[in-house]
Amino acid sequence: MRTGFTHQFMLMRENEAKKEDHSNTTDHLELRAETCPIYLNIINVYRTNTCGELRIENVGQNVTLAGWVQRTRKMGGMTFVDLRDRYGITQLVFNEEKNADLCAQANKLGREYVIQVTGEVNERYSKNANIPTGDIEIIVSKLVVLNASQTPPFTIEENTDGGDDLRMKYRYLDLRRSNVRANLELRHKFCLAVRHFLDSKGFLEIETPVLVGSTPEGARDFVVPSRMNPGQFYALPQSPQTLKQLLMVAGMDRYFQIVKCFRDEDLRADRQPEFTQIDCEMSFVQQDDIINVFEEMTKHLFKELRGVDLGDTPFLRLSWKEAMRRFGSDKPDMRFGMEFVELKDIFTGKADFAVFNDAAYIGGICAEGCAVYTRKQVDELTNFVKSQQVGAKGLVYARIQEDGSVKSSVDKFYSQEVLQEMKEAFNAKPGDLILILSGEDANKTRKQLCELRLLMGERLGLRDKNKFALLWVVDFPMFEWSDEEGRLMAMHHPFTSPKPCDIEKLDSDPASVLADAYDMVCNGVEVGGGSIRIHDAVLQAKIFKVLGFTPEKAQEQFGFLMNAFKYGAPPHGGLAYGLDRFVSLFAGLDSIRDCIAFPKNNSGRDVMLDAPGFVDQTQLDELHLVIKHPEA
Ligand code: ASP
Repeated sequence: MRTGFTHQFMLMRENEAKKEDHSNTTDHLELRAETCPIYLNIINVYRTNTCGELRIENVGQNVTLAGWVQRTRKMGGMTFVDLRDRYGITQLVFNEEKNADLCAQANKLGREYVIQVTGEVNERYSKNANIPTGDIEIIVSKLVVLNASQTPPFTIEENTDGGDDLRMKYRYLDLRRSNVRANLELRHKFCLAVRHFLDSKGFLEIETPVLVGSTPEGARDFVVPSRMNPGQFYALPQSPQTLKQLLMVAGMDRYFQIVKCFRDEDLRADRQPEFTQIDCEMSFVQQDDIINVFEEMTKHLFKELRGVDLGDTPFLRLSWKEAMRRFGSDKPDMRFGMEFVELKDIFTGKADFAVFNDAAYIGGICAEGCAVYTRKQVDELTNFVKSQQVGAKGLVYARIQEDGSVKSSVDKFYSQEVLQEMKEAFNAKPGDLILILSGEDANKTRKQLCELRLLMGERLGLRDKNKFALLWVVDFPMFEWSDEEGRLMAMHHPFTSPKPCDIEKLDSDPASVLADAYDMVCNGVEVGGGSIRIHDAVLQAKIFKVLGFTPEKAQEQFGFLMNAFKYGAPPHGGLAYGLDRFVSLFAGLDSIRDCIAFPKNNSGRDVMLDAPGFVDQTQLDELHLVIKHPEA
């Protein structure tokens, strides 16, 4: 029924089109090529131009446009309609005096109706400098309603009145908003630029499977039951890590893939259960070779897509240890200073203050000009560091007075002399506020101080979204201790190569072994990370041993990789960028969701599709699955 109707409708439109005069067709095309960033180069039944295309040069032309009704305004005898499509907005004019019937039809148009109009391009009396088509309007002579629309649940404009949940439920309407659509356009251009760049460097884009085996290391897997192999499961890849290494064994030399990855983790603003990586791998390379290629690519992307010139100088490189010491983070936000100053030597044993005397770490930051903070503001900071999110026990503060003296919350313990020594360590000036944390676990305290530094950076307006500070964090530890697992875990992943000079310490002191691993960091966000890989079966087996695998278990889980290494594996390494994060950084977004067409919410649900959902008993039977608590 529906198909029949559509067919009939198309025929009708085609006949109408045949009747239309297209004598100025070529003019249109030439004009569009010259003046418009996007032109479709198609003149069909529905339109001769897009809604973002017409300019003052087109005045006098007869055009046909199709799109959505954004707004209708009735002013005296005139009705104005903003017609929108992906390319822009064009104003339509209906004049009651000239054509009362047509104007009456226009007055009946609701928001988001899909219409087609034909008319003459006219120079506007009152121009709108805010939109590219603002110099012109269309004096409509013909109107066809292609489809009606219910009133949308929120306004489809840049500043919408729709809340998050509603917008997600009707994401297809949300995507009509120009700012959301612009994020997807940027994402498209980003991927295109990546593909061109990597292609020019000899990388091949190769697809790897989405149904793979479950691996025990890393995050939790999403699993998929296999109907043909009862009781067995595929896993969705957390990354194509081992597969891209096998492509290197296969001699592909340079691989990349813009690829979906899946991790069943708790979600945050910058995490989605499925996300996209720009995954890359290269053969016959050392760390510097990889850093050079991807630094060049990153500079290229910034220039092409943001118009930001990151200069010729190489990105800063910080060792993991230094990053932790100076900023308490392996992804420091380098848009601003406020580096940590360690105060243990200054305070320990100088007074009867157990909090400092018993601390493994005492460190602080200096917030310029913040001595004016009121008691209430300082209390807010104290509450912040004591919150569950940060977890510190308390905050010590010191104001530098106009006369240079120090007034602090620990005045009753420390002499002015000690406090002056502290002031010197920060190089603090009158008007500055020093904020100090201490704790028994040095790394934990540094991380807490990092949170405070980021908050102060935010408050002082130092985290400008249009400023980009990129660096590499290198020399990561190979392993980190996991209290939960009660064993060492690979800090990057188990395929990462230890630094050759540290291999001999794998047995005696594995915790001190450093890895050939590197992260690219931008504005406090890890945008990419990778490593030089192990390409030797014996060394790989050794790493699994340090990680607590029995030889049998290692063989069972990763035999395919270690066996491949026995057939001439080249030295290789690579990295992966988080595409969603990178694009949202480029677009200055707070959440990666805004650059994903159909994202999941914080509980991992797609509220538009209402997924995940239950499946039929027949499906469960076919999969040999029994749900233990169907009512739960
Ligand atoms: N596969 C790694 C990841 O997903 C990246 C890499 O080492 O290339 O983090």
